Amino acid sequence: MPLFGKNIRSARDKATESLPLLAEVSSHEFSLKLSYSAKSSEGVRLKAGPGLVARLHSMLAGYVKGESELVEPLPVALGTASPFIARLPGSMQWLQYNHKRSAVTRHALVVLESVDAIDLVYETLVCGLLSGETDPLGYPDYNAIVGGVVSHFDEVTGDLIVRAVVGWGGKGVRGDTERNAAGVLAGLFNNVAGDTHAIGTVPIDRPMASPGSGGLACQHCGFVSGLERVFYCPKCGMRMLRA
Ligand SMILES: [Zn+2]
Repeated sequence: MPLFGKNIRSARDKATESLPLLAEVSSHEFSLKLSYSAKSSEGVRLKAGPGLVARLHSMLAGYVKGESELVEPLPVALGTASPFIARLPGSMQWLQYNHKRSAVTRHALVVLESVDAIDLVYETLVCGLLSGETDPLGYPDYNAIVGGVVSHFDEVTGDLIVRAVVGWGGKGVRGDTERNAAGVLAGLFNNVAGDTHAIGTVPIDRPMASPGSGGLACQHCGFVSGLERVFYCPKCGMRMLRA
């Protein structure tokens, strides 16, 4: 053993000799309590038709403060995108897909994806700030309510299934936020159900998503779906043709 190592060991031995062994030491505490919540309504079945994107945006009318933003389903190459920063390569994909969006939209995605209220492998989100304030950098406060409508094309009929979704939370909680969120959710749901193409409500039945294993490309818009079995393009709603 080199002399250098010996010296260090003997110095350490001396130090432990002079100190009693403590079962507990005085410590500084650090903790972070993050709390995210979301509520989702039943789905409303709509006949797909012209002006679909504009109609989805208009379903936030009366609630959205400022702009609403459309987030389309994830392209297959980014199918494992995840807002959990330590999870690579998912978090890198997430940033790649979302770095140009507004602060409100990124916050909404973190909240809604963290609690599994939406699945961007096959769903489209139109979201905005629905209630509350943002900080000077534009990020919603913990008691602000974000969300909007989530849609996907029904595998059997090709109808559009739309539901309302709201989310909130962060480094704090306030007792009245959940009640406010329930009110906003009801209002959004009425907007969805009041759409001229609405033909009734449906229970939400999620298709089996298997991120990254899809690969069927839409002949109409070129979108490559991350779903293994998909009959309608998650992005444009056209029938997928099989080779
Ligand atoms: Zn398509």
